[in-house]
Amino acid sequence: MIVEVNLGSRSYRIVIASGALQSVGERLRELRLGSRAALVSDAAIMRLYGKTVLGSLEAAGFHVTTIDVPVGESAKTFDVARHCWDRLLTAGLDRTSTVLALGGGAVGDVAGFAAATYMRGINFVQLPTTVLAQVDASIGGKTAIDHPLGKNMIGAFHQPRLVVVDPAVVRTLPEREFRSGLAEIVKHGIVLDADYFGELERELASLAARDLDVLERIIAGSCRLKASVIERDEREAELRHVLNYGHTIGHALEASTGYTLYAHGEAVSLGMVAESRLARRLGIASHETTARQQRVLEALGLPVRAPSIDVESVLSAMTRDKKAKDGQVPFVLAPRIGAFQIVYDAPPAEIRTAIVSLAS
Ligand code: NAD
Repeated sequence: MIVEVNLGSRSYRIVIASGALQSVGERLRELRLGSRAALVSDAAIMRLYGKTVLGSLEAAGFHVTTIDVPVGESAKTFDVARHCWDRLLTAGLDRTSTVLALGGGAVGDVAGFAAATYMRGINFVQLPTTVLAQVDASIGGKTAIDHPLGKNMIGAFHQPRLVVVDPAVVRTLPEREFRSGLAEIVKHGIVLDADYFGELERELASLAARDLDVLERIIAGSCRLKASVIERDEREAELRHVLNYGHTIGHALEASTGYTLYAHGEAVSLGMVAESRLARRLGIASHETTARQQRVLEALGLPVRAPSIDVESVLSAMTRDKKAKDGQVPFVLAPRIGAFQIVYDAPPAEIRTAIVSLAS
């Protein structure tokens, strides 16, 4: 399956197919770029998929340097970005060369940032290996590293030239990591496409069991939805905020627990439950709209309750939200499945009640 991301001169393709990692070299050659490339990955992913990708690139005539980065969020630092720049320079990559990111969102973010800044920006290819990276982080051109004072604070918009999604690789993900990624898929259905959400409701068991045909179809559907948002709002002017559904309360939950208690998707799942209840309390959504969301999240093994929640710290973390204006945070809410509405003035008491409701 191919999803085109139409952004004028920055357009690119997302290729979604089981086994697609074997064709990375051929697909890159079709873009007629320079013959030097750097493959950025962590040791664990390299062990699993490095040989396939390297073999494919070398068979297509590329001279490849590999760059090893630490696992997970610890890859998103200035020192790791600098290590990437050092390796790109010593390997002689020039402005026609390509950086490829093989891994989850963390590898994609740091490799993308290195590619965006090296020689004022060179070609970049995403080879996402987690569900979250396949349906979300690899599409849209946001790249970043963290700063001690905040996550993703230093970054650049830099669209990839190509995204190759191989749904088969998510079968080696640990269960919690896999399920966490599904939260973004559910989010896309809730705020963007009622038919897609209906498909999720029908495929819950196969999705949770990682059935390959179902994964391929559902992942491709989610890539199409994210791409359609990016096409209409590349730089997050307004529409792209729709992708923040569940993230306002979700991010606050993560921040207030020091990013250790919840996986990102788990916090987003709880955020969606709370925000769907907020929509119901504000008279925007029906009980059934809220109930359908909770049923799907629960069936996919995502949390819908947070018994030990510290409401005050969640509320205080929310006031530090990047989208906050004069202490008020805008909420993306779903009036019905497949639609969204941005609410700028949700009453604080209603927000509090929605968060408190997660405890019961
Ligand atoms: P991750 O990149 O931290 O990877 C999680 C773990 O999974 C790592 O240990 C990795 O080695 C392992 N792993 C990856 N693929 C595997 C596979 N196929 N089999 C077995 N293990 C595998 O996690 P993530 O959830 O993909 O990404 C989170 C990051 O993405 C955060 O830093 C977040 O800020 C970023 N993000 C970026 C965007 C964006 O638009 N740029 C969007 C959302 C999230």
